[in-house]
Amino acid sequence: MKYIGPHVSASGGVENAPLNAMQVGATAFALFTKNQRQWFSAPLSEKSIVAFKENLAKSGISADYVLPHDSYLINLGSPDPEGLEKSRNSFLEEMQRCEQLGLKMLNFHPGSHLKQITLEECLTRVAESINFALDKTQGVTAVIENTAGQGSNVGFSFQHLAYIIDKVEDKSRVGICIDTCHTYSAGYDLKTEDGYSKTWQEFDDTVGAHYLRAVHLNDTKKEFASRVDRHDSIGKGLLGIEFFERFMNDPRFDDMPLILETPDETLWAGEIRLLQGMVK
Ligand SMILES: [Zn+2]
Ligand SMILES: [Zn+2]
Repeated sequence: MKYIGPHVSASGGVENAPLNAMQVGATAFALFTKNQRQWFSAPLSEKSIVAFKENLAKSGISADYVLPHDSYLINLGSPDPEGLEKSRNSFLEEMQRCEQLGLKMLNFHPGSHLKQITLEECLTRVAESINFALDKTQGVTAVIENTAGQGSNVGFSFQHLAYIIDKVEDKSRVGICIDTCHTYSAGYDLKTEDGYSKTWQEFDDTVGAHYLRAVHLNDTKKEFASRVDRHDSIGKGLLGIEFFERFMNDPRFDDMPLILETPDETLWAGEIRLLQGMVK
């Protein structure tokens, strides 16, 4: 079965996120467990944690299909020692918030070398950062997202993802989230039937299909291999409706969160219905 939902707002408290997801008919969702533009924030209150769990139960959405996303400030591959330490501590705090909320994954962008260290050095730092956080937490999987490769962001090639995983000590708690917009922008042709099967085959050969924990299901505004990250609404961008039909009937993506990070939230309920309606 396919579980779909958007990255919903948690404004007013994390406990509001499941209710926002329920309102658009979601069976999965993503959220920020804190202000994504701040390094650190006040600990979650006991009241907020209890209310989150109650509202999640009310929404009927399983914790298995909730995919928190970390702050945009965090760079786990930072070339700067101070920035790296701050990133690691902030990331650890986010992992601990997931533990408190009973959530099992934390999704994050691997990092950027900022043209100050090599690609390999950056990827190694990312892996060490993951080891640091996994060592101090339990039950939460670090889910690395592939990127479009904008600027000095690493993680746009499946080989980068494999390189990181290879250096992670606890391989049972590391996974991958594939963003379909980023994948196309990074130069993997998901659009054509042939490109679609080759891309997933390459993912399996390079990383291993068993590491796939989630998908960010987005259309894209930018042309193939542009290395630019601009999401579009489902079926309105360059990937197009046929891609989503193929995807929705592909059992490899059953039973994992499929998250919409599409730009027009007034379309979310309709996008979920459209996608679920494609399942034959
Ligand atoms: Zn994404
Ligand atoms: Zn993106």
